[in-house]
Amino acid sequence: MKTLRCDDSRVPRRLNEGSIARRRFLAAAGIAICGLPRPLLAEESPVKIDRVELFPVAYPTVGHFKFLSSPRGRSQRPAVIVKVTADNGVVGWGQSVPLPAWSYETLETSHIVLRDYLAPVLVGRDPLDIDGAHRALDRALAGSFSTGMPIARAGLDIALHDLEGRLTGKSLAQMLGQNSLPELTLSWTVNPPSLDAAEALVEDGLRRGYRHFNIKVAPDVDADVALARVVRRRIGDGFLWADANGGYEVAAALAAAPKLADAGVNVLEAPVKPNRLRGYQALKKLAAIPIYMDEGVVSPVELEEFIELGMLDGVAMKPSRCGGIAPARKQIELLVAKGLRWLGSGLTDPDISLAASLALYGAYRLEKPAALNGPQFLAFDILERPIEVVDGRSKIPTGPGLGIDVDEDKLRELVARSPRVG
Ligand SMILES: [Mg+2]
Repeated sequence: MKTLRCDDSRVPRRLNEGSIARRRFLAAAGIAICGLPRPLLAEESPVKIDRVELFPVAYPTVGHFKFLSSPRGRSQRPAVIVKVTADNGVVGWGQSVPLPAWSYETLETSHIVLRDYLAPVLVGRDPLDIDGAHRALDRALAGSFSTGMPIARAGLDIALHDLEGRLTGKSLAQMLGQNSLPELTLSWTVNPPSLDAAEALVEDGLRRGYRHFNIKVAPDVDADVALARVVRRRIGDGFLWADANGGYEVAAALAAAPKLADAGVNVLEAPVKPNRLRGYQALKKLAAIPIYMDEGVVSPVELEEFIELGMLDGVAMKPSRCGGIAPARKQIELLVAKGLRWLGSGLTDPDISLAASLALYGAYRLEKPAALNGPQFLAFDILERPIEVVDGRSKIPTGPGLGIDVDEDKLRELVARSPRVG
C-alpha cells in the first residue's frame, strides 16, 4: 500500500500528459475510466484504501463576500480537493474548504495536515469502515476543545462517503437509511459593503428567482436593524435569517435580538462568540428570537453539552465545519431527538462539498431554505455536470455516493490557475 501525495507542481504535469496518456495512467492505476463502477459483491475480497491524493486550489469568485478575501487582498475560495482510490480502482472525491477569515484553518495548514498526518492513516484501511476511520483520525491529530482541524478532516470524510457509495452502488441518502428530497430551496446571501448597496443586492437575488435571504450582521446594531428592514420590505414573507458570526458583545446581542425580530428577522445565528456560554444562555432565556449556533459546534459532544446548558434553539449545520458527514448526521439526529431545530448552511462550498451538503440536507428533509451560497459567489467548478440553481432551487444530484463526477480536465485547469502551495 502506498500514499501517493500530489502537490500543485506534480499534478498539472501528470494531468497535462493528454487524454491518451491520462487514460493509460488511470488504467495503470487500476482506475475505472468508463462507465459506472460495479457494485462491490459480498463474496469479493475486502477492498482497501490504496492512496489519497490532494489538490490544493483556489476557486475564482464573483461579488463581494467578506470571508473570501485572501491575505494578499484578492478574493478567492481556497479548497483542498481529496481523491481517495481503493485498491480495486474505485475513486471517491472529497473537499476541504478552509476560510482563514472564518476560522483558523488555512489552505496551507489544511494541505499539510491532510498530507502528513490525516491521509496516511487511512491507507490500507477498509473504506466502508467510516466510524473506524474517524477514530484513527482522532488518534492521528489530537483535538483541543473539540475535533482537531475539522474543516481539513471533512474532505476525507466526504471522500470516504463518496467512495462507499460507489463501492456499494448506493446514494448518500440510501447509505444513511433516508429517503431524499429531490431538490432544495436556497437562500441568497446579502453582505453589502454599505447600506446603500443592500437594495441592489436583494434585487439581484430576486431577479434570479430567490425568495429567501440571509444577511450578515454585527457589530453595529442600528445598521443591522436598518439592513434587516430594507431586506424584509423587499422579500414579502420570505425567510430572513441574520448571521452575526459571533460579532456582537453579549450586551449588544441582547439589545439586538428584539430589534432584529421587530425588523422581521426570523432567526439570529451566532450572535456572540461560542465561548460566551452565559451569553448564549441569556439570549435563549430572553426568547426574543430563535438563537442558532454555528461557529463552535464541531463534534456532537459539545453540541450535547450546549443543548443541556440551554444555549440554543437550533444549529446552522455545515458538514464542512464539523469534520464531515458522519459527525453532521449525528448532530442533526441529536437536535431532532431533543426537539430542537436545524438549518442548512455552508462555507461558500464549491462543487464537491456543495454536493455533500445538498445530499445530507436532502436526506434529512431540510424544511427551511439552505444558505448554500457557493453558486452565488464562485465562478468555476470541476464537475462533469455542474450543480445548477434555477429559480433559487437546486436539484440534489442522484446516483452512487455524492452523485457527481469530477472532470479531471477541469481539475487540471483549476490547479494550473491556482497559487502554488508547497
Ligand atoms: Mg454562520
